[in-house]
Amino acid sequence: MSEAKRIDGKAFAAGLRARVGEAVAELKAAHGFTPGLAVVLVGDDPASQVYVRNKGKMTREAGMVSFEHKLPADTPEAEVIQLVETLNADPSVHGILCQLPLPSHIDEKKVVETIDPAKDVDGLTPVSAGRLILGQKGLVPCTPLGTVMLAKDQLGDLTGLHTVVIGRSILVGKPVAQLFLNENCTVTMAHSRTRDLAAVCRSADILVAAVGVPHLVQGSWVKPGACVLDVGINRVPAPEKGEGGTKLVGDVDFDAALPVAGSITPVPGGIGPMTIACLLRNTVEAACAMAGVPLPDVLN
Ligand code: NAP
Repeated sequence: MSEAKRIDGKAFAAGLRARVGEAVAELKAAHGFTPGLAVVLVGDDPASQVYVRNKGKMTREAGMVSFEHKLPADTPEAEVIQLVETLNADPSVHGILCQLPLPSHIDEKKVVETIDPAKDVDGLTPVSAGRLILGQKGLVPCTPLGTVMLAKDQLGDLTGLHTVVIGRSILVGKPVAQLFLNENCTVTMAHSRTRDLAAVCRSADILVAAVGVPHLVQGSWVKPGACVLDVGINRVPAPEKGEGGTKLVGDVDFDAALPVAGSITPVPGGIGPMTIACLLRNTVEAACAMAGVPLPDVLN
């Protein structure tokens, strides 16, 4: 039996970041401004610290300005909101991202809603979500955007294909379903209450798993030849790495799906790397919109 094509998200994301770099250089030369991304991190969650460090590094590598605001875990909510308001008013900041989750004493919704929609490069404000539903131009959440980009790179025109999205979160499931709908797919959203999930999945030309349950999707759930996009990132024990060893796996049983699918993203190295690349792309888009100049062709 032939194997599915492994979709190399790491390479695609590196290419996108290189194009962001070209666009930044072009904007500097032609219009004299440099896109700037501000990241707000509250507390010392180790995973969030790694994400923020990587975001800062890749922002600088793309020739953009990185503003990093690291606040202690006990920072009062009002202070975080005050910082976001200051960043909203700063003309050198074109994108604002609050690293989630925030400590429990802070109302995430309130903080996110403070972000100026023009600088909402994470696409999470109600205005950005509304624009996405209404089919208006706006900033789109990064992981969903990266997921659709990889699907289009694999399959070209997605018109008429049946996309099944497992997961209905605000962060991934809902926006990714909307983006596939905007590509003229027929979209089914599945979740924890879906009946006969296996049968629903088997009807998918494009299967997106955004659940957070390791290896939920089995090989027999995949339609032969389908494009499988695994958004899940789950840390599981890996005894082969010695005592206490762990590894990352997706929501799809990769080895079981490989002989059935037409193409499939691995975890790690599939959807994951697309998130930061799309964040940088969104920051350039936000900066261009603010400056009233078109997005450089290299990013279209
Ligand atoms: P979430 O907010 O916990 O949402 C999970 C969704 O999965 C919910 O809609 C839930 O349904 C559904 N679900 C849970 N168990 C299910 C089951 N047994 N069968 C069917 N559906 C089930 O998670 P999220 O933020 O969307 O993240 C999902 C995964 O993507 C996580 O592994 C996360 O780490 C990963 N992720 C990766 C990236 C990246 O690649 N950069 C970015 C974001 C998230 P109900 O709504 O019915 O509860």
